[in-house]
Amino acid sequence: MKGILNYIAELFYPPRCALCGELTEPGRKRECFCARCRGIWETEKNAVCPECRRRADECRCMPKYNVSHTVDSYRTAALYNSENVRAIIRKIKTDRDPALEALLARDIANLILKYHRIDGDSVLAYPQRARESVKKYGFDHAALLCDRVSGYIGIPVFRGIKHKSGKQQKTLSAHERGYNAVKSYYIPEKYKAQIKNKRVIFVDDVVTTGATTVVCAALCKAAGADSVSVFSIARTP
Ligand SMILES: [Zn+2]
Ligand SMILES: [Zn+2]
Repeated sequence: MKGILNYIAELFYPPRCALCGELTEPGRKRECFCARCRGIWETEKNAVCPECRRRADECRCMPKYNVSHTVDSYRTAALYNSENVRAIIRKIKTDRDPALEALLARDIANLILKYHRIDGDSVLAYPQRARESVKKYGFDHAALLCDRVSGYIGIPVFRGIKHKSGKQQKTLSAHERGYNAVKSYYIPEKYKAQIKNKRVIFVDDVVTTGATTVVCAALCKAAGADSVSVFSIARTP
């Protein structure tokens, strides 16, 4: 039944490449990129950090705001410095595309499996999306991404990092971002026990100044988390 529904849906909404918008090849498994853009994404993941000359996933450079190492480590699938990567990040925030979500979540899951020890004390977390954005786009991309990562690596998701729904980060300067992030997130009392003594694996779409990750990590540690490691799709080098 699901097969027939998918078939009918694709007649009306033929699947298009998440990057270039061309029709993708029909197939049983829906792909998010056309063959060319699939190659582009693989190339982007091999881009070299201009600071440390390491490949994106091997780069250990710290974002500006993590001066006191509140976040224990950062890993990223790609660098946030090309138009292709920016387009992919834009897409994941604005259009619901389950195939793209699945691909990016798999990249993040692979990073976690490669660089993070996983056991009973590991927990995934994400920053809740601002209420205004959820209303505008109809979904919380961070939650969707994190849930998929959880599906791949089988560790639970902590849902206690809440947004106070203040201003949107992207409309602010770097200085204001730090200040706004402090005001924007909180962990309600009833959630705190869930991350006590846990090693938090924080999943985010993009890390620029690091303000959001540092603030969320500080909140997690204040609630008793042992460590906070950030895994993102992209990061400003
Ligand atoms: Zn394409
Ligand atoms: Zn680097």
